[in-house]
Amino acid sequence: MTGERHTARCLCGNITLEAIGPAQYTEYCHCKWCQKSSGSAFMLWAVFDKDNVRVISGELSYFQSSEKLKRGFCKNCGSSMSIHFDGNFDITLGVMDNPEPFRISRHIWNKSRIRQVCIIDELPRFEEGGA
Ligand SMILES: [Zn+2]
Ligand SMILES: [Zn+2]
Repeated sequence: MTGERHTARCLCGNITLEAIGPAQYTEYCHCKWCQKSSGSAFMLWAVFDKDNVRVISGELSYFQSSEKLKRGFCKNCGSSMSIHFDGNFDITLGVMDNPEPFRISRHIWNKSRIRQVCIIDELPRFEEGGA
């Protein structure tokens, strides 16, 4: 599994990220910040250790969305690509070249979920951020 390699690209193609190894986990986030940042109902995050991710082309721009957390995006096309906090570098599944290997394990911020969006699964749902 250590040879697993994932690439992610923004809409205009200027920025490419490379992540090595399986994600620690992958989750739905229904928080208000992800909704505003993406313009959509939720975001899907693959969580990697920051040491396993590199920007291999282009340059991320950052928005500090809370004291501890910044969001990476492409300033040319506006794609939301990443979240950075503690030792993590999370990449959104929407920009992954191949999102298929990622098994989603949970929902967080269920309390701000957009109710009209119907997701039927047996995954654990946390009302706020998961532990
Ligand atoms: Zn771009
Ligand atoms: Zn979120």
